[in-house]
Amino acid sequence: MTPTLTPTAPLTALDRCDRCGAQAYVRVTLTAGGELLFCGHHFREHEARLRPLASDVLDETGKLTDPAPLAEHEA
Ligand SMILES: [Zn+2]
Repeated sequence: MTPTLTPTAPLTALDRCDRCGAQAYVRVTLTAGGELLFCGHHFREHEARLRPLASDVLDETGKLTDPAPLAEHEA
């Protein structure tokens, strides 16, 4: 058995949704080859159709709900 290591590079701000151009939070790797990038909104919209075609789904939508406690300044 030779495990195939698929490099899962994290998505960056440069990755854009294929549908609307917003920042991509999901990368879908297709079994047929190729990749698709989606924002959280469009991934949810197409998820049901994409799942059967995908060999791998990198879902980073969790980052969207991360609270950014940067504005909390209590002095
Ligand atoms: Zn989108």
